[in-house]
Amino acid sequence: MWKRMVSCHGPALFLNASHSTGMMARGFVGRNPTAPGEDPGLHYIGPASSPAQTVSIRAIDDSRYTIIDEATQSAIEEIEENKAFYEVYKGAVYMHQGRTYICKAIDHASKVAVVRQADLRYYTKTRDMTDVTLTGGNPSYPSRVPPPPPRTSSAFCAPAQVTTRFLGFRKIWKGFSPQASKNNDYTELDLPSIQYNTIATWLRVPDTARTLVEQRELEMRPGLHGASHALLNVLPMYITCNPKDVATECDNPYDTRYRPMRLLLFDRQPGGIGIAAQAWPIFRELLQAAIELVEACECEEPSGCPACIHYLDCSEYNNVLDKSSALLVLKATVDAEVSILCASPPCRDDAGMTLSKS
Ligand SMILES: [Zn+2]
Ligand SMILES: [Zn+2]
Repeated sequence: MWKRMVSCHGPALFLNASHSTGMMARGFVGRNPTAPGEDPGLHYIGPASSPAQTVSIRAIDDSRYTIIDEATQSAIEEIEENKAFYEVYKGAVYMHQGRTYICKAIDHASKVAVVRQADLRYYTKTRDMTDVTLTGGNPSYPSRVPPPPPRTSSAFCAPAQVTTRFLGFRKIWKGFSPQASKNNDYTELDLPSIQYNTIATWLRVPDTARTLVEQRELEMRPGLHGASHALLNVLPMYITCNPKDVATECDNPYDTRYRPMRLLLFDRQPGGIGIAAQAWPIFRELLQAAIELVEACECEEPSGCPACIHYLDCSEYNNVLDKSSALLVLKATVDAEVSILCASPPCRDDAGMTLSKS
């Protein structure tokens, strides 16, 4: 339940019930008794003369790391905690406004990382593992999939818990370098795991997809990864969002653990910011748009390109991708959707659209 808040310092804001209750308890907002009708008339009454100045425009999570330039001892950026370890850890090459820095130290108690400007011929990549656990009570793999509302897809939407473990990092040398031929440029990391609760929407990929992929002697993991990326790439055509706000389950070459057969999108902000929830009722449209995106791309690289199945903010640097496998996964999933939703006549969705195979 979202409530409208009127601020004397700017346009109306919208708060959910827990936010407004919490802010009222802390003395930041109060009710306006002259507000008409159902309007709760919440106004900012806190101590700051300009509350907007205390709000970070770069991060909405309260828990964040501050990046300090060692030379000037000034803060140059704040990074939300759940994204910080992709950029800063001891030895990381950190980029900011075209300048290259190396991270000299990081303190987890104060959430401060100290960086020093440096001219380096390499950059760094973390090696990490992310698990998305669905905690919403709906089974991930129901034996029967009744079409839940909206009837346009059998996708689910529920709370999820995201856990990322950072194992180490590698140096990637630019151009030819004697160091580039070394294989020992891997450094283990001792970083705390990042865990947060969010909202995810997902759709089970049918077994027929695996059959089709294996018949073509392709692999499922690159197909699931690529299909998920294609969904993320078409998402901004339907929902206003930033690549850093939404993510999927990204595969890496060294993770051989079980990988669920699903296409899943989740909000990268703790608590969720409504992107996955908005994607839920249009999941079928997203699938169709993703198919068109991949089919229309003329790239000949088996692993695709940024115009089809590469994703700008892939946590695994667009490894483990296969364009042909991704297309088979997407098409098989759409076909399964049509079969599920057409199982009981009439074969129409709630909007009156006739469902048909692509
Ligand atoms: Zn392409
Ligand atoms: Zn990815």
